[in-house]
Amino acid sequence: MGDRIFLSSPHMSDEGYEMQYVKEAFDTNWIAPLGTNVNEFEKELAAKVGSKAAAALSSGTGAIHLALRAAGVGEGDIVFCPTLTFSATANPIIYQNAVPVFIDSNEETWNMCPEALEEAFEKYPAVKAVIVVHLYGLSADMDKIMEICRKHNVAVIEDAAESLGGYYKGQHTGTFGDYGIFSFNGNKIITTSGGGMLVSNNEEKVSKVRFWATQSRDQARHYQHSELGFNYRMSNVVAGIGRGQLKVLEKRVEKKKNIFEFYKRELEGLDGVEFMPVNDWDKPNYWLSAMKLSGTVRPFDLMEALEKENIESRPVWKPMHMQPFFEKYNFVGTDVSEKLFRNGVCLPSDTKMTDEDLKRVINTLKGLWLR
Ligand SMILES: *Cc1c(COP(=O)(O)O)cnc(C)c1O
Repeated sequence: MGDRIFLSSPHMSDEGYEMQYVKEAFDTNWIAPLGTNVNEFEKELAAKVGSKAAAALSSGTGAIHLALRAAGVGEGDIVFCPTLTFSATANPIIYQNAVPVFIDSNEETWNMCPEALEEAFEKYPAVKAVIVVHLYGLSADMDKIMEICRKHNVAVIEDAAESLGGYYKGQHTGTFGDYGIFSFNGNKIITTSGGGMLVSNNEEKVSKVRFWATQSRDQARHYQHSELGFNYRMSNVVAGIGRGQLKVLEKRVEKKKNIFEFYKRELEGLDGVEFMPVNDWDKPNYWLSAMKLSGTVRPFDLMEALEKENIESRPVWKPMHMQPFFEKYNFVGTDVSEKLFRNGVCLPSDTKMTDEDLKRVINTLKGLWLR
């Protein structure tokens, strides 16, 4: 059996950029939280995506949590959240004792459906914030979504954990809303092993987020706290990895795009195969290559066949309104996201894959249509 092929795994630069920055931290004994790498990583990421300010945090989940606090979301407040996402989008709503209302996807984007969002505003006009996700690096329909949210004067948080390096109409995803968040978890397009970033053009709010993330220490010689604090700051060692990874972001996007286009070329003609939608306004980062199956080959058959060949694959996210923990909350929409979950599958999209690896995946898959 061949070596394991992963869905998406850490991929450090060939040039060793990450080690240089980490070594700098060691050489200057700057292992403690904060330091040059943290400050520079914030500046470099903000410049990369075109945002005024950024706060480096310990996870993307923590970044969503503090974005909700910055948006003033508290006990009993309603937050609209896409149903088709990873639970990390929704969990921080519960940390704030707020109430999620889950919004369906549309076929056109796989992301938040603007019509379902409108309907949600009619049903729950007291909403405090909207979280938008760019799933698998595909951008949501931001013009329509922002127009609706601005009309209702509500804060927008963009969960761009999966879409760093992707654009909507030439602008980086994560920079349309009041707050954007990115993740550097081990499976994301670039990684620090674990970490996150909050970006915003509101520099005051970003300072506030840094303050909350370091236990809300007031300016005083003694330890003084006027607000609840969190230990959510990124460490200076981890930020060094991030600075190195940021240098190869474009390369990773290019490889992910090649992987997607290879799969598409090889598989598109097969019965019941339809790839994730790439709209004209969308320049995705292709974090994961995903497709829908509507013929006799089912996602389960495909995942089983790949696993036998030591190749990792996954179903599309199971919608939040179908999760035992979240099913008690309200949902607006039809069955689009449920169908995407039942018919969708994510193919290995690891940037370390060789041409041989890609052929191994394709040969295994094509075999299923010959049975
Ligand atoms: C990975 C991910 C997160 C969470 O990021 P962490 O850094 O792992 O906390 C949030 N939302 C989505 C959509 C993700 O894929």
